[in-house]
Amino acid sequence: MRIGIHCFTAGSLERAALKAKELGANTFQIFSGSPRMWRMKAPDPEQVARLNQVREKHELTPLAIHDSYLINLASPPSEIREKSIAGFTGEIERAIVIGAEYLVAHPGNYKGLSVEQGLLNVAEALGLAWRGVEPSLAKNSKLTILLENTAGAGAQLGGKLEELWTLRELASPYVGIPIQFCLDTCHCYVAGFDLASPEGFDRFVGHASETLGWEHVPVIHANDARSPLGSHVDRHANIGAGYIGLEGFRRILNHSALREKSFILETPVDEPGDDLRNVTALKELVSPRERSTPKKSSRSGTPAGRTTRRCT
Ligand SMILES: [Zn+2]
Ligand SMILES: [Zn+2]
Repeated sequence: MRIGIHCFTAGSLERAALKAKELGANTFQIFSGSPRMWRMKAPDPEQVARLNQVREKHELTPLAIHDSYLINLASPPSEIREKSIAGFTGEIERAIVIGAEYLVAHPGNYKGLSVEQGLLNVAEALGLAWRGVEPSLAKNSKLTILLENTAGAGAQLGGKLEELWTLRELASPYVGIPIQFCLDTCHCYVAGFDLASPEGFDRFVGHASETLGWEHVPVIHANDARSPLGSHVDRHANIGAGYIGLEGFRRILNHSALREKSFILETPVDEPGDDLRNVTALKELVSPRERSTPKKSSRSGTPAGRTTRRCT
């Protein structure tokens, strides 16, 4: 099983990988720069080399990069659209240089437009962003873009899985790398998919299979939900402290369709140790035959119940 967590680089890519290792993760996610700034520096080659050494040594794979919060690929012609397209070109280039397997992207917000126009804007923006990628990088890429489902709040695209599929269909001819999907358990739940009940989860597995195909979903963001079913309010909770609950996650982690996926936490760290507790909680929910390491952790699998808002 691949189980990991979003780690903050604090200016050092290597440090993020070491943190993942320290927490007992075998996969992880990072931002490739400050997620709230437009200007981002190219990754330092020495840092990338050190990151790769740590990843190789500890078999930390895959590495996902989450795109900046500022980017809105659905926006209509405007300064923000120009910045978003250029910003996404930068995200792709940095992800390739860093050697990440995945770049996770939120589809965007179509405020003031129709859903259809919003989807067209995103698809066009993905194509334009790809066109801006430096050819030498584009040629040697092993990167896959993952469109992430969202809480579907207001004019947010991606609350419905059909929208993600439409984006892939529209954009793929114009993007030279694969486009697949990342499903976030918290976003699913607050968007109206009842992952907490056995029947609801089964229905969701079938629905995702029909609309996206599980073979196109390599990464799951594993977050419990602080807000109720269908609330469209995106607040992540620690594993077991939200509406999905420990039994919900036990079903999710052990379902035959999801066994090969990489589960990456984006849970709050309110108190020191919350990150370790969440990684440990996921690992302990995996049934013994699915564990990659037979040794059982001595830490408790139940995380603290405190939560804060965090959206990735
Ligand atoms: Zn979120
Ligand atoms: Zn997420």
